[in-house]
Amino acid sequence: PQEDGDTPRRVVLADPRSYCAGVERAIEIVERLLRDRPGPIYVRKQIVHNSHVVADLESRGAEFVDELDEVPTGSTVVFSAHGVSPAVRAAAEQRRLEVVDATCPLVTKVHAEARRFTARGDTVVLIGHADHEEVEGTLGEAPETTVLVETPQDVARLEVADPEKVSYLTQTTLAVDETREVIEALRARFPALRGPGSEDICYATTNRQDAVAAVAQEADVVLVVGSANSSNSVRLTELAQRLGTPAHLVDSARDIDPDWVVGARTVAVTAGASAPPWLVEEVIDALADLGPAIVSEHSVATEDVLFALPREVREV
Ligand code: SF4
Repeated sequence: PQEDGDTPRRVVLADPRSYCAGVERAIEIVERLLRDRPGPIYVRKQIVHNSHVVADLESRGAEFVDELDEVPTGSTVVFSAHGVSPAVRAAAEQRRLEVVDATCPLVTKVHAEARRFTARGDTVVLIGHADHEEVEGTLGEAPETTVLVETPQDVARLEVADPEKVSYLTQTTLAVDETREVIEALRARFPALRGPGSEDICYATTNRQDAVAAVAQEADVVLVVGSANSSNSVRLTELAQRLGTPAHLVDSARDIDPDWVVGARTVAVTAGASAPPWLVEEVIDALADLGPAIVSEHSVATEDVLFALPREVREV
């Protein structure tokens, strides 16, 4: 219970939060296949980086695998929202797998840029996190001529074949402010640097960061709903912390430590792009169990992005 039990606590929901268009599309692809095709339906890697989404689809019959050699020849396999390298596509073809591609169109755009920049003879500097599946996929477009950097320090150590021919790309789910610093460091070292026509950090990442920044400033503590391997959820947590507000990443309401909210007059809540809205509802309920609460929403943007489903699931 709150020490000051009479005054309700404020719970402010950041908006936009939770599912983006790419995650909704990826989940719908698996759901339609489970509904319309005789099983089993295999999914390479987590369809999106959320443990609850994966557990739910698994309970409905989806078989998650790490690599394609676990998929029997001729079976249906879904590629996750994070995309795959050309080598994975070739392996699927060799094993005569029926591929349904749930790669987010905004990740596909980055792959297309990687091919275009490589074709003009550039070294491609990919800004991103080493062990992330999206980065593995994008790097795979031109592994010989792509280098990965995470920080301005990495940029200082960079060696390229021709400093006049350098392009950069980014992972879609990076922190906007940190990425700007890395791009500035690149431009300082390589004045002829070229980049993508429009930002690779996607609209959903940008909006969720703008929204958490707005609510963090008025909150005593920020709760971010998302799994630990969700890049954009981790970035939301770090951003709130950089702005000086204690912030915690929770996979579900069960992870909330009541001590975090003791004495907090205002608790801000957001969710990464892969975290389902019902997990946010559970967090709101859990906060209400800790004392009277008035829930409101702070909106910084309206999202109306929708991605068409691939032909394979539209026609069945
Ligand atoms: Fe696509 Fe962005 Fe969502 Fe990733 S976070 S699936 S790039 S819309």
